[in-house]
Amino acid sequence: MSESTLVPLQQLRQRLRAAPAAWPIELPAPPTETSAHAAGPLDRLNRPLHDLRISVTDRCNFRCSYCMPRHVFGKDHDFLPKPELLSFEEITRSARIFVGLGVRKLRLTGGEPLLRRHLERLVEELKQLKMPDGQAPELALTTNGSVLALKARALKDAGLKRVTVSLDALDDTVFRRMNDADFPVSDVLAGIEAAQAVGLGPIKVNMVVQRGVNDDQILPLARHFRGTGIELRFIEFMDVGTTNGWRMDQVLPSDQVRQRINHEFPLVAVEAHQVSETAQRWAYVDGQGTVGFISSVTHAFCGDCNRLRLSTDGRLFTCLFGSQGHDLRSLLRGNHPDDQIAAGLRQLWQGRSDRYSQLRAEGKTPQQRIEMSYIGG
Ligand code: SAM
Ligand code: SF4
Ligand code: SF4
Repeated sequence: MSESTLVPLQQLRQRLRAAPAAWPIELPAPPTETSAHAAGPLDRLNRPLHDLRISVTDRCNFRCSYCMPRHVFGKDHDFLPKPELLSFEEITRSARIFVGLGVRKLRLTGGEPLLRRHLERLVEELKQLKMPDGQAPELALTTNGSVLALKARALKDAGLKRVTVSLDALDDTVFRRMNDADFPVSDVLAGIEAAQAVGLGPIKVNMVVQRGVNDDQILPLARHFRGTGIELRFIEFMDVGTTNGWRMDQVLPSDQVRQRINHEFPLVAVEAHQVSETAQRWAYVDGQGTVGFISSVTHAFCGDCNRLRLSTDGRLFTCLFGSQGHDLRSLLRGNHPDDQIAAGLRQLWQGRSDRYSQLRAEGKTPQQRIEMSYIGG
């Protein structure tokens, strides 16, 4: 049994309540004309800043055991009070600054992003942003799909381009057990259909695979989405946060998932569109589409990681496995012009050297890790 499964419940709750204060972001001297218009920053491992994932809420209507286990995120869990959340104006301002620094893709996530009221208004604001080359950044959303059928049209009209929907099982009993909220598969499938109907595509479906929990759902999901134009992606169960009782023996390596599919439907490797793609993509030999494998545990992809995460309360995390983040919110709420904040953020990215998944193999994992529901996937 791993150390985290042995941590008493009170201690886990205490850890969540006593999350350390964020690091301050240092603001350099006022930028010169040249630095304000310089190319996007590279971090210490030469990685550019490309994606910004924005968590719009720490709340969720599911209690997936690998993310927000109910015994920890129960009735008495302290979710963030409203004043601590970044407002839509603050999120848009942050995104504008980041787009100016070279971010080309914005992804809304959570918690469950569709629980944030009037999310489509935020999408409308973000849609106005322009990159230095005059193009709009790509705007996407990751959702558990529970209310997608109700929201798809408004999101599309507001300017959202694409959705990724999480779905861990096709069998209703397995799915209800995994979301631990008695939520049926049929509503998520209806959400996916609605998203497809309004043109929120290409759609991706994410399945977190846990050995002995839902690995019998790999083939049913593969059969279901083959030939639909929807890409199914298998995510290895990860040790994000400290509450999900992660154990290596519950990770089903992507190579084994691929072998199971390949046995029924032969697959061939697809060349990556971009080096930084998180998923390794494979195509069905019979032309019925593609599947993806996100193998953070068995094939770490830190070398190309160009993602930055903005938490619900305005902390920046340069790695999914960070502990305390960097305090952007107090800069946004202070009296600082955008170009000065941009200079601080440029410097922050230039100092980044995270490569947690690579270090995991060497057993160098920090005790404190932020929970996934604060910063999104
Ligand atoms: N609630 C939304 C959803 O589930 O799609 C968005 C937030 S959720 C944190 C983002 C993604 O992270 C989901 O696809 C989820 O399956 C994945 N995820 C959460 N915990 C994980 C874990 N321990 N290992 C691997 N993936 C995880
Ligand atoms: Fe909610 Fe998504 Fe986490 Fe599941 S994975 S508990 S749906 S935030
Ligand atoms: Fe990026 Fe951190 Fe994941 Fe590595 S472990 S791919 S640096 S988020």
